[in-house]
Amino acid sequence: MIDVKTAFLLWVIQAGTLAILLIAIWLHARDQRHFLWFGLGFGLQATGLGMVGLRDQIPDVLSIHAGNILSLLGFICWGQALCAFDDRRAPAYVALPALIWVAGNAVPALTAEIGYRMAIYNVAAAAGLAALGVIVLTGTFSTRRYRVMLATVWFLQAGACLVFAYIATRIMPRSFTEMTLAVAVSIVGLIAFITAMTLIAKMMMDRSEERLQALVRADPLTGALNRRGFSDAFQHLVDSAPSAGLAMIIFDLDHFKHINDRHGHQVGDRVLLEFSATCKAHLPQRAAFGRTGGEEFAAVLAVNEPKDAALFAETVRMAFAERAIDAETQRIHVTTSVGIAVAPLAIADLESMMAQADTALYAAKAEGRNRTSVNANGKVVTVPPARSDNLDAQADRQVAILKRIAAVGNNLHD
Ligand code: GH3
Ligand code: MG
Ligand code: MG
Repeated sequence: MIDVKTAFLLWVIQAGTLAILLIAIWLHARDQRHFLWFGLGFGLQATGLGMVGLRDQIPDVLSIHAGNILSLLGFICWGQALCAFDDRRAPAYVALPALIWVAGNAVPALTAEIGYRMAIYNVAAAAGLAALGVIVLTGTFSTRRYRVMLATVWFLQAGACLVFAYIATRIMPRSFTEMTLAVAVSIVGLIAFITAMTLIAKMMMDRSEERLQALVRADPLTGALNRRGFSDAFQHLVDSAPSAGLAMIIFDLDHFKHINDRHGHQVGDRVLLEFSATCKAHLPQRAAFGRTGGEEFAAVLAVNEPKDAALFAETVRMAFAERAIDAETQRIHVTTSVGIAVAPLAIADLESMMAQADTALYAAKAEGRNRTSVNANGKVVTVPPARSDNLDAQADRQVAILKRIAAVGNNLHD
């Protein structure tokens, strides 16, 4: 049987190694702050338990009070680490373990007895474990299944701590060694620790995988979906849209080569970013937006009628035309032409809808650019472009756009 000091030493070595490892990982991936917080939590625990283990070799105030408080402050860091997965701040109740220790030790009759001190520490640890469990349950990271499993492990371990605390107050040991139950509780703690670490490692691996998948599907310049991502999003809409049909909307910036030639490639890139931001700002709920070529973008929308798509396209076209873009010495305005194709959900197909929208786009370019054409039922019609409607209110503008669409409305239906 190992003695208490050796057990403390083993735990300190393990927690200390984890702390160094996690903080080293964070130094290479600073945006992933959960590594830092997990590392700091283990660092605090290693330091705190190290001080507790040095009982009789260092002053009591350090080994009993500072040591236990440091170790319990670790819960604040672990709570923050779990919250970092969801980009939120840790709730105030993660400070509960350290507060319970301080409050419990403010009562002289309790602090004088090692049995009570052990009980206070275990009640505090149980509160910390329960707090971590609640954070995990109320979080949104990973899958609900893994979060429930992790919370269950911590709730069980919290229960074991409470049992230990109760028995300590019944036996009232005069030293750690008299508390034979400590061995059983340590084993439960170790199993819980390994299980929790395995679950967290799996959650972190899934998270890295998701981030990689998102990178593979995004255009690096604008952050919009790339062709591959757009194709996946299109299929997802086909499978899940509650609407009668889908609309494919292709945007091709007008005279973009001229902008590059005149203002330089960097300004050209800025124009692409501005267009992407404009389109994303107006994108409805069930829709996807991607960059399908150099200065060509596409949006797919769940729609019930072609006019829904035309309204969106005209709104984006006009908002973009009005946007003044910084071109070093001057501010420039750029326009886009738009081609739309619509199809019933049951027969919606990416390639054929792209081809039909392209035909409409070609018509919009041929008719003078900065306008929207719709390919419906094999017939291409162009929405008459009121280039400047002098309307500021969004609602008035929408009505004006709808009137223009209504002018060609009959041609959008069978
Ligand atoms: P149109 O009105 O007929 O569409 O004319 P256009 O000049 O926009 O069309 P064209 O296809 O002739 O030119 C597209 C230009 O887009 C050519 C290419 O250099 C530029 N381009 C493609 N990708 C990028 C990019 O990532 N950044 C920048 N700045 N330019 C790009
Ligand atoms: Mg083009
Ligand atoms: Mg172009």
